[in-house]
Amino acid sequence: MLLYQVGVDLKLLDTRSGRVLPVRPRLRYTTPQAAPATIIRNARIIDGTASGSQFDGGLWDILIRDGRIARIEPAGRLVSGAASELDAGGRAVLPGLFNLHWHVPWPGTPEVGSAAVALAHGVTFLREMGGNIEPDWVQSLAERIEAGQLLGPHISFVNRVIGMARHSASVDVDPFDKQTVRAQVERAKATGASWMKPYMKIPPVDAEAIELGHAAGVPVTSHFLFGGSLARGLDGKEHAFLYYRGENAIYREDIISAVRAIGTQITPTLAIILLRGISEPLDFTLLDPAWLSSFYAPSILADARLRLKAWVPIPAQDRVLAMNLENVRRLYDAQVPIPIGTDIAAPWQEMGVPLEMQLYRKAGIPPREIIRLATLEAARCVGVDRDLGSVEVGKLADLVIIDGDPLADFRVLQNPRWVIVGGAIVTPAEIAKSLQRE
Ligand SMILES: [Zn+2]
Repeated sequence: MLLYQVGVDLKLLDTRSGRVLPVRPRLRYTTPQAAPATIIRNARIIDGTASGSQFDGGLWDILIRDGRIARIEPAGRLVSGAASELDAGGRAVLPGLFNLHWHVPWPGTPEVGSAAVALAHGVTFLREMGGNIEPDWVQSLAERIEAGQLLGPHISFVNRVIGMARHSASVDVDPFDKQTVRAQVERAKATGASWMKPYMKIPPVDAEAIELGHAAGVPVTSHFLFGGSLARGLDGKEHAFLYYRGENAIYREDIISAVRAIGTQITPTLAIILLRGISEPLDFTLLDPAWLSSFYAPSILADARLRLKAWVPIPAQDRVLAMNLENVRRLYDAQVPIPIGTDIAAPWQEMGVPLEMQLYRKAGIPPREIIRLATLEAARCVGVDRDLGSVEVGKLADLVIIDGDPLADFRVLQNPRWVIVGGAIVTPAEIAKSLQRE
């Protein structure tokens, strides 16, 4: 047996079986050695909260100590002392972005770089939605990042997807068997998986997963929305589509009010629809920078270029997108939580979050609200808003520093000047370089 620490969690590894068990209680600790303090000077702060931020207008200095935001003062007021300094030069400083529907890429090869490239594009928190790889691999990636061995975003992950035969047989489990659902709940508890995800259009499977999951303290997010699941308190729904009597449908008022009453969060994943062939071609120029090859295996990039070459507009997808935008608008108006998640895997994901945000804008949601849905609201949806999601004294300093005005054009978020995660200030090029040491 081996006892080890991950963040505030203790875990016990059975070295013979390879099984990892979380140990309660969680730890409280202060780092024995104070990390050096840093002041980010002359920042224009977009803090991740709803409109009317206290930092609107003017420039601010942010003191970071022990990886957390210690003070925020009008520019020029903070005395440096022993702190090192970084001049943001009037650039926008935002909370790190969240992507609540992300996948380790297929085909096949586990790519450490796929998490790093998300970080290089300002995403400091990922929720891995499973299906391509065993959760153990994601768990060990998340732990290596938290331990400071690798540069990357925080990662939470789902357990083995229940009933997902389509992508990979190796991660399929039999959805019809109650015992299997029970085993999956046990497994989620053992690995520290944050979510359960049923994938089948079979209401009793969702019901079983929700009941057992909740009894074990594991929330459930499903691909579908069944009345029985809502009655049992379904926590999340992936994708904005709604199937009703076999059709792609608009969310009716009664469904929306039920979803709202239960508090179910819906991660719309609009960006993935673009990759299925809408008639308006996308700007994929970002796939070209040479440094992408330091994140991905050549086979993944080659596959992506091939798919672009074979781009075929499919008019039906325009209608699917329009219906999804309408659904997002309705859900937003009803104040249903709709955190940002893209469903776009490598190498498209580097443009995924800003692309998703642009589509929210197409749905008519105000820019500052969209930033909130990509930061503080997403953090709340995964239960980490006490520490993450906004530029706020006391929170962890997961930040991005951006050229240009994200409120005017989300595309500027694709290329942050600096990313700050776990107290480390890095450029995208430095993140790419860190992988070469792997
Ligand atoms: Zn997905």
